[in-house]
Amino acid sequence: MTSHELPPEEAYKGFTHESCPFFPCHSGVTRPFNCLFCYCPLYAYRCPGPYRVIVDRRGVRRKDCSACALPHNGHHAAWSFIQKWLKAPALWNGEAAEPWNGAVSE
Ligand code: SF4
Repeated sequence: MTSHELPPEEAYKGFTHESCPFFPCHSGVTRPFNCLFCYCPLYAYRCPGPYRVIVDRRGVRRKDCSACALPHNGHHAAWSFIQKWLKAPALWNGEAAEPWNGAVSE
């Protein structure tokens, strides 16, 4: 797995921080690990998951994204995935994750 999947002019799309003490923080990543979206920009919005809904001590529904590798799976692929879902963002209303086929453009 290389840290330099992208040509220099597209390097802004991702990077791999292999010396991070939490690396790799998610399993199931098959492409170069993208650390750019360590805080997922889709957290407040509807997304394809997979997330688990938990309820905090104040009764607020929150996403547990532990099982989601989508923002990390490839420098280009993760970038494309995030851009696609931010084109028309809709605030997440606490609903459960819906099944998704996992397709992202390369
Ligand atoms: S489930 Fe995945 S895509 Fe959705 S907010 Fe969490 S990390 Fe982002």
